[in-house]
Amino acid sequence: MDLPYLRSYPAHLQDQVRQLLAKDGTGALLQRRYPQAHALRTDKALYEYTAELKSRHLRKGGTIHKVMYDSKIHVVRNALGLHTSRSLVQGGKLSARHEIRVASMFKSTPEEFLRMIVVHELAHLREKDHDKAFYQLCAHMEPSYHQYEFDVRLYLTHLDAGGSRLWGEGPAATD
Ligand SMILES: [Zn+2]
Repeated sequence: MDLPYLRSYPAHLQDQVRQLLAKDGTGALLQRRYPQAHALRTDKALYEYTAELKSRHLRKGGTIHKVMYDSKIHVVRNALGLHTSRSLVQGGKLSARHEIRVASMFKSTPEEFLRMIVVHELAHLREKDHDKAFYQLCAHMEPSYHQYEFDVRLYLTHLDAGGSRLWGEGPAATD
């Protein structure tokens, strides 16, 4: 069984996940680790959450103009959100306009999962590629970044394998 979200992890770890999937154990494991969903259900709450993380860790990363949940992000192709940086000419000065879009499925996840996605997107304000410097910055903003990214990928694998959503059914709040 191919595990597309976990391809970059060691084979023995992927085998453990396959064994867990065979026993239908992914849901229980994730719920034990993360009993609760966060309450950041609106774009406004998401923006404030992101701005707070940024001011704590990335003071010089430019201004974020917009942060939103986006139901059009295809989770399979873009599990880690979508960051865009558009250049706008404003009064003759070139300024980058940063937008952060987070797949709506992260409305109904533990706060740790949302934090991992937001930290990932914030790190892209400074580092474009997924290289060593990028992941160092992620781990600086969230020391458990790597664990959370693995668990997000495990959850996506769980859903891919036909598992049910673990922290509520999709977005209930309308923005
Ligand atoms: Zn990325």
